[in-house]
Amino acid sequence: MNDNPFPDSPVMPEMFDGGKTIQFQCRKGIDCWNVCCSNIDISLTPYDILRLKERLDISSTEFLDKYTLPYEMEMDSIAGVKLRPVAGGSACQFMTAEGCSVYSDRPTACRYYPVALLSMRKQDEYVDRDSYALVKEAHCLGHQEPRSLTIDQYREEQGLPEYDELARGWRQLILKKKSSGPSIGRPSKRSLQLFFMTCYDVDRFREFVASEGFKDIYDIPDDEQLKILSDDRSLMLFGFRFLRQVMFGEMSIAMREETVTARRDRLLEKQRRIEREAAERMARDEREMYGDQE
Ligand code: SF4
Ligand code: SF4
Repeated sequence: MNDNPFPDSPVMPEMFDGGKTIQFQCRKGIDCWNVCCSNIDISLTPYDILRLKERLDISSTEFLDKYTLPYEMEMDSIAGVKLRPVAGGSACQFMTAEGCSVYSDRPTACRYYPVALLSMRKQDEYVDRDSYALVKEAHCLGHQEPRSLTIDQYREEQGLPEYDELARGWRQLILKKKSSGPSIGRPSKRSLQLFFMTCYDVDRFREFVASEGFKDIYDIPDDEQLKILSDDRSLMLFGFRFLRQVMFGEMSIAMREETVTARRDRLLEKQRRIEREAAERMARDEREMYGDQE
């Protein structure tokens, strides 16, 4: 793993734990007010999207369409989503002269700034661990304000423990995908779409989970199904479990025996057909090459 997670960036390569004291304050009236929101590059977590679509009272599909841009994370073939700036500009669509118009539901990256969260996973460890870096950009005058606090205190102040907790399953999926390396190969378009829908388009994922096709495959108790379908947070967390099962074979959602058997039978039948066709082709080729010698 690269020691410096942000080469060619203003992020200092030094990494800290939550006990590190920083000097920083962002406040209304500061000379650089809104400068950071005028030129954005903000990646969103699934929970960020959930909070913002609830705030705006629109569906996740509508939110994605109007306020985001898809991107591929670090060439790892993992679907990601960024905030889409205003048309023809680089400012955030939620920026107003008064500040952020969705402040109490602002995304994780906005809350963290100027701290950067680095979720790392060492190859010989199963758990991921968080460390932090400090972003010092010349335009941000908050670093000159006379206020000191630890990164842990800053995270509390910004409401980040809840955001990080609800995004943990998603971060773990990404870390696991990255650490599984290139040997697994580029995922199919269908699996990228499945990851995108499950993580970011919670309202479409709900329709998928409620569909007869899904119920034919997965055996979910009625009370759990009801909870998943009626609560966005439960649905999102279920989505992370679902993806762990689909992507890495970590079985935590029961599958219907008859479906598993039928799938296995279909696969076996397909394999037998391929073998039969190959044998027939070889026999035909031999006859053409040597003729009928009997
Ligand atoms: S969401 Fe709010 S805090 Fe974040 S970039 Fe937009 S205006 Fe700024
Ligand atoms: S202090 Fe930094 S974070 Fe606050 S408005 Fe200025 S540039 Fe943005």
